[in-house]
Amino acid sequence: MCFFAEPLGGALTRGEALAAIAGLAAFPIMPSQSMPPRARQLNADRRVTAIVGTTALVGDDLTPLHDATILIEADRIATVGPRAAVAIPDSALRLDAANTWTIPGLIDSHVHFFQSGGLYTRPDAIDLRSVRSYTDELQWVHNNLLDIFARYLRAGITSVVDVGGPFWNYDVRALAARTAAAPRVMSAGPLISSVAREILDPYGDPPIVKIDSIAAARALIDREIAAQTDFVKFWWIVTPEHPAQAFEPVARDAIEYAHRHGYRVVIHATELETATLAVESGTDILAHSVFDTDVSDRFLELLRSRNVIYCPTLMVVGNYGYTFAGRPNLTAVDLQLANPDVVGTLFNMTDVETALAPATLDRIRKIRVPELPHAAMRNLKRVADAGVTIAAGTDAGNIGTQHASSFYNEALHMVASGLSPKEVLLAATRGGAAMMGRSSDLGSIAPGKLADLVVLDADPLADIAAIATVRTVSRNGQIFDSAAILRESAEQIVQRQVNAYNHHDARILAQTFAADAVVRRPGKTLRSRAAIDAAYRDLFARNPQIHAEIIARDVRGDVVVDHERLTGFADGRTSESTVTYHVRDAVISVAYV
Ligand SMILES: [Zn+2]
Repeated sequence: MCFFAEPLGGALTRGEALAAIAGLAAFPIMPSQSMPPRARQLNADRRVTAIVGTTALVGDDLTPLHDATILIEADRIATVGPRAAVAIPDSALRLDAANTWTIPGLIDSHVHFFQSGGLYTRPDAIDLRSVRSYTDELQWVHNNLLDIFARYLRAGITSVVDVGGPFWNYDVRALAARTAAAPRVMSAGPLISSVAREILDPYGDPPIVKIDSIAAARALIDREIAAQTDFVKFWWIVTPEHPAQAFEPVARDAIEYAHRHGYRVVIHATELETATLAVESGTDILAHSVFDTDVSDRFLELLRSRNVIYCPTLMVVGNYGYTFAGRPNLTAVDLQLANPDVVGTLFNMTDVETALAPATLDRIRKIRVPELPHAAMRNLKRVADAGVTIAAGTDAGNIGTQHASSFYNEALHMVASGLSPKEVLLAATRGGAAMMGRSSDLGSIAPGKLADLVVLDADPLADIAAIATVRTVSRNGQIFDSAAILRESAEQIVQRQVNAYNHHDARILAQTFAADAVVRRPGKTLRSRAAIDAAYRDLFARNPQIHAEIIARDVRGDVVVDHERLTGFADGRTSESTVTYHVRDAVISVAYV
């Protein structure tokens, strides 16, 4: 299913791309078959581009400027003003942007590239290595970096902050910097942690390092500084064996040490007690909202007086619970944009339960999905009202929280927490730029700023859901039509259909088929997308537990043959069959049993 038709996005030749990836020497790697074809840049041959007739949300306050023109020269915004007032050189590429809204590029301030977002990516949370080995999981992550990069851009996310992982993180940052169809990446390295996670370290490059002494903390920070880290990250985990105070002496010294060397600190601390200690110890950023209880006025004053940046990650904890309960928390945007192979694993929960030890099964069955609005949501509202800088972030990569697409649901839940769409948009742009320490050239639309821009087909100030209507993306002045950024393989398109089936979303399922697609099943032939939508809507309504497990798959070019087992029929039967899919022009044209 290799599709290396042409060189990668941007300047890399295929050889260079493989060399760049091969450079990730920390882990054994095979030449990848998942190099997404080149995303076609609209202005590759133009120095000047004009976005004409848009409503630009300009300045630090996202002030709407109607019927505006944004002039981009090389990688910078040269001018933004009323259409009549901005002269456009003849040599410029003109993009007609009538009836659109242009915002600064979105920034996800909390992601992890060493995690895929799938079911097998955190064996410390659920150990399914007997189903998929952790080295295979990491191999998949390595092989699909360019795919994940492109999905961020497709979602309008032009910058991300990787808040910690193996030293390999810094290679990911370098690869992104050399890839046009990729977000800007800032990175922290291995987490200075109060607890160990050896299970996540099959290669001697651990994402999490248990630190028991000041000397060990300083030594790790020195290594990260040598790798030009962007942040120093702490994992302040509390357990019965590790009370919050136990880590304080090491944390305090290490934070002071990092600051003395000019590095900003970000801390994972999800309890009010630990978060308070982290702020009192000098952290610059809290990587999460407080999840265990409602924050106090004293805590709010601490955050405000020390200019701490607050990154909520509202959905990540619940997404574990939903996945373990066999009901992955996925939006239509996840089903449409997230990597379908990853999403597919989330529906395997019922298929792999037998691989789990009874004690583990018992433990995960006890995990409850927090009722909304949970403490983290209530606290976000209070922290925002207290005037603290919020940097929107998802913790993408964790089980059930997808790279790129999860930003949409996070934003919806920030509004559900009581923030206005404008406040959320500011947290996703200016707040993110503050987190990156790049407020001078990112996070708002103004002359001189880097041309990271997203053109939307709906007004995000009216409804934050508009961030899912991405039409055009500019990263560093390189402009892409959103529809041309991702070009998925036949297998990915068929898997997307299977995911929509397992999520019982007939609309998304039908979208994976051509308008005139033909689906032949015993006793029934469907001859259009509309008929497919109606038929599956009815099937899901009559069989709310129906589930498809792919037992085997064979891919030959644009033909995908699945051997599937269907369970969960209302009448209790199960069925096994072989389905053949023909994919043409990125949709399924024919499917038959
Ligand atoms: Zn995280």
